[in-house]
Amino acid sequence: RLEEGHDLGELLEHDHHSSSVLRLTGADGKVLFESEVLRSLPAPLPPDSHQSSTHVLHDVSHPEHGPFRFMSGTAQGKEESWLVQVGMSLADYHHELAEFRMVLLMILPVGLLAAVGGGYWLAGRALAPVHRITSTAQTISAKSLSQRVVVANPNDELGQLAETINGMIGRLEQAFDSMRQFTADASHELLTPLTAMRTEVEVALRAERPPEQYRRVLASVLEEVERMSKLADSLLLLSREDAKVVQTPKELIRLDALVQEVAGHMEAVAGDSGIRMTVQEFPAMTVQGDPDGLRQVFFNLLDNAVKYTSQGGTVALRGLVEDNQIVIEVADTGIGIPPESLPRVFDRFYRVDKSRSRELGGTGLGLSISKALVERHQGRIEVQSTVGQGSTFRVVLPLTDESKPIGGK
Ligand code: ADP
Repeated sequence: RLEEGHDLGELLEHDHHSSSVLRLTGADGKVLFESEVLRSLPAPLPPDSHQSSTHVLHDVSHPEHGPFRFMSGTAQGKEESWLVQVGMSLADYHHELAEFRMVLLMILPVGLLAAVGGGYWLAGRALAPVHRITSTAQTISAKSLSQRVVVANPNDELGQLAETINGMIGRLEQAFDSMRQFTADASHELLTPLTAMRTEVEVALRAERPPEQYRRVLASVLEEVERMSKLADSLLLLSREDAKVVQTPKELIRLDALVQEVAGHMEAVAGDSGIRMTVQEFPAMTVQGDPDGLRQVFFNLLDNAVKYTSQGGTVALRGLVEDNQIVIEVADTGIGIPPESLPRVFDRFYRVDKSRSRELGGTGLGLSISKALVERHQGRIEVQSTVGQGSTFRVVLPLTDESKPIGGK
């Protein structure tokens, strides 16, 4: 359009923006047009970009108008070429950058404060259940085991922790309750014969009595003393079992011979009560453990069978080897055990009929001792019973291979 004779000044004043500047230089280095601002800047810009056909970026600082960014390039006409330099003031851009920096500087401390405060608040909220668990745990003692930690959300980790702690407190509470019950029962059991003896002795001492009366009182006192020593023995055995202070001996025992030996002793007692005792032929069976403890187990079971069977009844003893296990069965045709009492007969001091058991010289500890002793031998004890028809107790023990060395795997 220049070649067409248009006025350059008019053309450019018309097109270019006020914040942008322009310089147009001819091939001969003569400045054809130049914005007002550029007149005070050295020309051309950049000095050697005239020959270059590529675009060059160039920053220049104007003493009055501040920084400018130029793009210089060559415009090729039909015959002529020009150096075109377009510049833009960076003042606005720098001003905005400075403003942005200010805003950032102002926001940063606020943001930092908010982050610290928010983090503290969040941590407080997240740790609140831990504080609750800690303060509850601190107030729990042996006397307040009924307390439980509050479980806010049972599905998260802290909820699961709280439930685990509650489960543990629950088990401790049960253990403490049964210990308390055991101590109370034991004291009561010891107090009963003591009271009986005291009364008898006091009455006997109130007046002068013939010698046979003293003898009768002494015999009765002896009976109570025997009961008390039996009870004390049982309590000692149970507390040793609880404390697990006794090491189970690892003797190899021919159980068939041991059970038949106990049965031999009990046969006479059964005969005295008018009860028939049958002992089946046993296969050879070997277990590893404590012969005295096992003797006590079968003595307790046979003693109970005889005690709770009426005259004319039968007590049958048999032993078998089943699935690599030894089973010894004591079956009687006695009074039987009601179904609701069956799960409790192995509990300490539990008796279906307290006065009947006492009359028969029972302490209510026989079966719990038997259970503890059998479990010490990695065995179990089971009962089946029908009231009026009889009961069957089964002791199941792991069979030991006699050829294996003792204590070997
Ligand atoms: P106890 O010294 O009273 O016999 P045990 O612990 O040996 O205590 O037995 C607990 C209770 O189980 C007994 O009091 C009795 O009621 C019941 N029991 C045990 N064995 C038999 C049995 N063979 N027949 C009927 N009841 C039985």
